[in-house]
Amino acid sequence: MWDPVTQTLPRGDIEALQQRRLEHLGERIWETPLPFWRRKLEAGGFAPGDVLGLEDLARVPVTVKDELRRSEAEHPPFGDYRGAPLKDCIRVGSTGGTSGVPTFALWTRADLDDDETAAARMFWRQGLRPGFVLANAHPLGVYGGGRSLTSALEAFGCLVLAVGSLDTEAELRGAIDLWRRCPPLAYQIFPATYVKVYEAAVELGLDPAGDLNLHPPVEHPDGAERTITGGTEGFAFLGSACPEGGGAHAAEDRCIVEVLGDDGLPVPDGEMGLFTITTINRDNFVLRYNVEDYVVVNPEHGCPCGETHRRVRWQGRRKDRVFVGDEWFLPGRVARVIFADEAFRTPTMEYQVVRRRENDRLHVRVEMDSSRFGAAAPAAVRLAAALEASLGVPASVDVVGRGTLPRPPYKPERVVDE
Ligand SMILES: [Zn+2]
Repeated sequence: MWDPVTQTLPRGDIEALQQRRLEHLGERIWETPLPFWRRKLEAGGFAPGDVLGLEDLARVPVTVKDELRRSEAEHPPFGDYRGAPLKDCIRVGSTGGTSGVPTFALWTRADLDDDETAAARMFWRQGLRPGFVLANAHPLGVYGGGRSLTSALEAFGCLVLAVGSLDTEAELRGAIDLWRRCPPLAYQIFPATYVKVYEAAVELGLDPAGDLNLHPPVEHPDGAERTITGGTEGFAFLGSACPEGGGAHAAEDRCIVEVLGDDGLPVPDGEMGLFTITTINRDNFVLRYNVEDYVVVNPEHGCPCGETHRRVRWQGRRKDRVFVGDEWFLPGRVARVIFADEAFRTPTMEYQVVRRRENDRLHVRVEMDSSRFGAAAPAAVRLAAALEASLGVPASVDVVGRGTLPRPPYKPERVVDE
């Protein structure tokens, strides 16, 4: 473990630490003052100066993204929910705006330290070690997570060959030249970018595996479920996948995790609910923020790896729910069925679940290389049958050629509305 003392704290000590940090957060809200959060405490029946503790936390009304968006519109550009004044912030990032107007994330130096500490646990669990040479091909701008990833890896002690999103031919060739001269041990790369680099390298007469140490990124659908969030919103470092399986250990020394039903009440461990977090070790914190992702807390306490922090399994985003009739499910279930078929996951898995007004059946669009895996029509019938058997709803499938679906430089949207 990166930090064995913290990662194996007895439950009682974790809760005592959470209580202390939460009380301090409450004091800051009253004393600074922080208008947005002060209104939340007052709406929960707290009076100025009241102590905010673990037992009373559930009285604070939950906050959702739309409220942050509104706060930013009313108090531009950064809203009135920031825990730190702008002069203390040194980095700005933004969600990609895939679910409406993007909101900004702000970090102070202490916030970056907090992220980097949690990230170090993640890197260690992934088998990375200080001293490694790594490549980072994630977008580096305000709208991408690449910059935070690079600085976290540098803080961990790695040398990072960061190249950004490789939008032009010159950028692509420059990156390949860099990686050929100094082959990284591992890549942080999205599948769409991997394919782009792979094809360009072959065109240049290189062997991607031998010359660049470039291998296909792991994209098994179970991989997503082992993380703690969809990876957006700057919350990727709240916890990270345990190599033993069973979910991602939340960084409970820095974050209080609640899982709530649509009625706002807690759901038992083992049942799916909405991931709601309170970050207790940051200047720019959130208090009972509903990420609007579905998660399950692993009901088995104690992990074979020895960590004492609870394990959380990410299930999908609420906005990606797919309705067939009155029933809904998350696209991860569709992804598992597609992944089981080699023809649809080679060399990468490119698919969309298409939501239409008529929701009497599930619609899926998926890419396949017909020159390798045969005609599209029988493949479509095969996948539709597999989807119907697994999900229990009628399904129709369009099999399209490789390169048909969008290839954004970040994670593609898997659920589209038509
Ligand atoms: Zn574990």
